[in-house]
Amino acid sequence: MGRKFAYFSSQSMKMRFQLWIGVAIAALAFSIIVPFYWIEKKNRINEAESQLKQMIVLQSLYIERWNQEKLDAIKRFALSDNAKFHRIGDLKREFQNYAGVNSEFDTLNFVEKDGVINAGDDSFIYVGDRPFFKYALEKRSFISGVDISRETGKPIITFSAPVLGDQNEFKGVVMGVITLDRLNMLMKQLSFGETGEVYVLDAKGQIVTASGNTNVSSTSPNPPMTSEIIQRAKTGSTSSAVYTGFHGEKVFGQYQWSTGKNWIVVGEITQKEVFQKLNQLSITIIVISFIALIVSILAAITIASRIERPIRYLLRATQHIRKGNYHYQIDADEIRSAPVELRLLVNTFNLMSEKLKTTISLLEVSALVDQLTDIPNRRYMMSEGNEQLKACIAAGYTCSVMMMDIDHFKKVNDTYGHLVGDRVLQQVATLLKQLAGNHTVVARYGGEEFILLCLRKNAEESARLAEEIRARVEMEPYKDDKVTVQLTVSIGAAEFSPKLEFGTMVLEDMISRADHALYRAKTAGRNRVELDR
Ligand code: GH3
Ligand code: MG
Ligand code: MG
Repeated sequence: MGRKFAYFSSQSMKMRFQLWIGVAIAALAFSIIVPFYWIEKKNRINEAESQLKQMIVLQSLYIERWNQEKLDAIKRFALSDNAKFHRIGDLKREFQNYAGVNSEFDTLNFVEKDGVINAGDDSFIYVGDRPFFKYALEKRSFISGVDISRETGKPIITFSAPVLGDQNEFKGVVMGVITLDRLNMLMKQLSFGETGEVYVLDAKGQIVTASGNTNVSSTSPNPPMTSEIIQRAKTGSTSSAVYTGFHGEKVFGQYQWSTGKNWIVVGEITQKEVFQKLNQLSITIIVISFIALIVSILAAITIASRIERPIRYLLRATQHIRKGNYHYQIDADEIRSAPVELRLLVNTFNLMSEKLKTTISLLEVSALVDQLTDIPNRRYMMSEGNEQLKACIAAGYTCSVMMMDIDHFKKVNDTYGHLVGDRVLQQVATLLKQLAGNHTVVARYGGEEFILLCLRKNAEESARLAEEIRARVEMEPYKDDKVTVQLTVSIGAAEFSPKLEFGTMVLEDMISRADHALYRAKTAGRNRVELDR
């Protein structure tokens, strides 16, 4: 297995929980934000595009009408009899009357067929070289782009219509010049959104007029605009990509040609504005996702700790059991908030440890008690008895040990059977318990041998007790409804001596010496008490 895997597998439950919840929330947030952003971005662009288109269509219509109105006025003058029959004085009066009502024309002039304007006071202006005059020669009316007036230096637009005689012969031109003030004023109201602008450009890209936020001078030449949208208009491109707009910012733009491809109406809105709401929304979503992430990680921590805590308790509890603390219990109050399964598990654990405790203590007791006679066994004597002996010696008491063996017990078994033998053993044990007194530990040492540890007796005192036992056994034969078994016992006794003859344990040494005494009692004829010498 790779090291990476080992790293993850070593993480605690809590950490894994947090990791996976974090990953899940992040994936969820990502899967919402990305498609949302993508779709919403498209929507925004489409929305901006259609808004732009609407604006420029409206503006084109307006410009178209405005142009047509002006041109119509000029045409009316050109078709008038005063023009046709060269009644210049009357024509000029007509001009003045018109200007009194309609202030948009800066000047209205009649141009003679040789290209000269008679400005009165013997001053003549030659305009035969102007484009409008060339159009007029071709018998066509004309709307100029933005020109700079030779007289005033202001940006102007020229409207012109040829004057034709009855034989359709060229007789001059009526031309009117318009300064851009009026158009500008109207256009000022046309901005939309925060950055949305509408521009009117002539075919060369020279600005004619623009909406609110663009300063268009009507008194001095405006610099020619260089922008990709002009290029698009000229090539008829339908691209809607972002480009650098007239104000130097990244913009979305749309264009429309108007009035016989004379002017371009351009609508622009900054990319920033189009995406502003989108970005705000995205930031909101990201912030919400982030909060959700934090909240769910906190939730994960809580849930994990609710799961982890009882498991930690269980883990600790099993360690206690392993160390032998079989009674160890987990406090149910500590895991109140844990999931029900874990609480059940903890409950079961507590029941198990309870059961373990009673079973083990039962086992411990039965390991130290002789099953047949129900008195302590040899193991008990060698551990617990030894401890008591040491404490007793330390406390300054004189102690002694007796070894007792039933005489010819084999014969009892052989004659009356094992069952009777067992009952004999039980009777002897009962008698020993009865006679032993407070400070004497009685144990079955093995077979038909018993041991008595007298914790407050010297050799003589224990010999007296031994004699009493011997006498009582002899006096009280075993009886049941079928048999009577006469019994005798031999006893050897030994007193504590700090000098050990046998083994390393005090008790071992005393038992060995008592055993030797017992041996002497047996060899001396049985049914007697012998003292260690
Ligand atoms: P001695 O007087 O020399 O002690 O002779 P004995 O027959 O008592 O001694 P021996 O050691 O030869 O025999 C002991 C017998 O005790 C042998 C065995 O069958 C019997 N015995 C040991 N434990 C039990 C027991 O739990 N129940 C019964 N019924 N008999 C037992
Ligand atoms: Mg024996
Ligand atoms: Mg015996």
